[in-house]
Amino acid sequence: MSIVRVALDVPLPTLFDYRATAAASEDIGRRVLVPFGKKIAVGVIIELASTTSLPMQRVRSVLSILRDVPPLPSDVLALLKFCSDYYYHPLGEVVLNALPTRLRRRQTLKPDTASRYRLTATGRAIDAASLRGRATVKLELLRLLRAAEDGIDEVSLRSIAPRAAAALKTMTEHGWIERVAVTRKAPQASTAVLRFVPGPALTNEQRAAVDSLRSVDAGFTPWLLLGVTGSGKTEVYLQWVADTLACGKQILLLVPEINLTPQLEALVRARFPETVLVSLHSGLNESERLHNWLAAQSGAAGIVLGTRLAVFTPLPRLGFIIVDEEQDSSFKQTDGLRYSARDLALWRAKQRAIPIVLGSATPALETFHKALNGNYRTLALTQRVNAMPPAIECVDTRREPLLDGMSQALLNALRETMKRGEQSLIFINRRGFAPVLMCPSCGWTSGCERCSAKLVLHLQDQRLRCHHCGHQERIPTACPQCGNQDLKPLGQGTQRIDSALARIFPGARILRIDRDSTRRKHAWHEMRRQIHAQEVDILIGTQILAKGHDFPQLNLVGVINADSSLYSTDFRGSERLFALLTQVAGRAGRGATRGQVLIQTEFPAHALYQALRRDDYPAFAKELLAERKQAGFPPFVYQAVLRAEALRRETAIEFLIHAARDGAKIEGAVTIYDPVPASMSRRAGIERAQLTVQSRSRPGLHAFLRAWHVRLDHAAGRKVRWALDVDPLEL
Ligand code: ADP
Ligand code: ZN
Ligand code: ZN
Repeated sequence: MSIVRVALDVPLPTLFDYRATAAASEDIGRRVLVPFGKKIAVGVIIELASTTSLPMQRVRSVLSILRDVPPLPSDVLALLKFCSDYYYHPLGEVVLNALPTRLRRRQTLKPDTASRYRLTATGRAIDAASLRGRATVKLELLRLLRAAEDGIDEVSLRSIAPRAAAALKTMTEHGWIERVAVTRKAPQASTAVLRFVPGPALTNEQRAAVDSLRSVDAGFTPWLLLGVTGSGKTEVYLQWVADTLACGKQILLLVPEINLTPQLEALVRARFPETVLVSLHSGLNESERLHNWLAAQSGAAGIVLGTRLAVFTPLPRLGFIIVDEEQDSSFKQTDGLRYSARDLALWRAKQRAIPIVLGSATPALETFHKALNGNYRTLALTQRVNAMPPAIECVDTRREPLLDGMSQALLNALRETMKRGEQSLIFINRRGFAPVLMCPSCGWTSGCERCSAKLVLHLQDQRLRCHHCGHQERIPTACPQCGNQDLKPLGQGTQRIDSALARIFPGARILRIDRDSTRRKHAWHEMRRQIHAQEVDILIGTQILAKGHDFPQLNLVGVINADSSLYSTDFRGSERLFALLTQVAGRAGRGATRGQVLIQTEFPAHALYQALRRDDYPAFAKELLAERKQAGFPPFVYQAVLRAEALRRETAIEFLIHAARDGAKIEGAVTIYDPVPASMSRRAGIERAQLTVQSRSRPGLHAFLRAWHVRLDHAAGRKVRWALDVDPLEL
């Protein structure tokens, strides 16, 4: 009797048995269609078996085994299994979640056709200098197409700018480019030694880092590449990518932000023109994502560049993993399957016995601690390649009166920078902060009726909005509590700074970049273009501007509201603030002049600002580690959070109290804390509460969680939704 055990996308911690007479061991990892209840579901075969614990007459038969694409390889199945066990998430959901959407559909795949564009002889002969003026999109398209012999697919080209579609049309009419329809075959792996276009000559530090990497024999070796911003970490990665490709292996390059992938992708493509590079992130459409995934799985893609989900990609020839900006919290998924892609990448490197590099200027303390202990080897880049480090100064706001949130020193610096024809950035730290409406006479503040969040004031369209549930309402004309008509905004929002600056510097060209202004598709691309074309004098922005963008004319950064993270209730507040300010400061002075950073603060003497001014994260991180050790926080303890949601707060809390009592009966060296409301205790009308469990030993914590989570399943009932968050980043 042949039985297959199938993973299905259902929230149950079990596999499902089906009869499958035709199944063979090479079908493990393949998709199957099976009857499930009254429906037909897609599943993945995890195991073959000869017996089942179910009565035989209840075991249904597989409808078909889909053999259109190769099965998930055993190492990926093992990774998914580990992920399911470690994060206490049903295996079926983990497995199906890792497949591209197209493969979760009930149909087999049809041959895929797609349009590509490539340059004609006319197009190749065009002199870029003859395209003056505002032809930036065309120039960009020409540049991309010149680098790609076989042309580039339409979807990718269209995605570079809002005007790309129109530009493609005109260029076709001019006969510069032609459109070809191709049936997409999975690209073939090439074993030829692939060309590496050399970049700038390496600095001594970069050379030393590359040599160290090379000096270690193959096998699992985790590295921390600790490099200050602008120290040229990318060049070190690229040398190693070249070495790895030369050995006929694949590279997995994980980055936090999809916004950052196009630039990096272009850079890497230019340096490895003959290597198949595919990207995997949520910005791709289904067919692109499938195509890229298959290219990775077949081994044809030499380089896979992706965001966190890419960590699950099958890579038969995987030889090297890079996690860039490893400290970034977007590597951790915060709902559903709450995994850390960085941690899984480490597991995967170990499983495949290959090296992995975690790169950062401000590594997570967990990572830094391992490097200090010698669990990871450290490569240090201490100097900026091209520019001097920015001059960082604190403006003491206890002494300086503020005008709409800005000090005289900052306004003067803005004026000077504009005079020199350079750009400035006003960075508003939004973490835990946004402008709310307040009544000065009774203290009323605008709160969301469905959440415990404050409503954020949006002056432009005169509305109050909840950033958590989307609720919005009109700005009240008087205080709902006392009737006072003089309501005031509390704190600095981007819009308020925007209107203040427009008043103070009437001629200035100001560009505000935040979640609202970048929501439109392509908006961000257009803004980048404006900044590069020097059509902007002052940028006002939040977190979105902090990361990795290179604006050569930007020389002044002013930071507002940094202090709110300094004494935050989250024990990771300082660690994050340092990382954030390092990134923001890194935006200043990437060009020829020395950058200037002004941080407005009430605590200029604080160790964090002092270390930041010295560009000395290691020293500050050691201090933080000492504090964490004393206080018994990670990385000296291991945590998990049990999160519960219910319509009524008491229901959630009762469940947690019950869970804590149950947990107390389990033997093990863990501490179970009391249930508390979540930091966002109400969200879209749902009450949220949580409790923390921690242990000094990771195996100890997991021994406990294994026993505990099965009991939780029984205790929850229908009124509570719960989830375990292992190694949580937010408490
Ligand atoms: P990081 O990621 O460490 O912040 P990048 O890799 O972005 O730094 O490099 C910063 C800048 O320095 C980039 O513009 C890069 O092209 C340039 N660069 C890197 N290495 C060198 C080098 N050896 N010589 C000249 N320029 C370099
Ligand atoms: Zn009032
Ligand atoms: Zn709300």
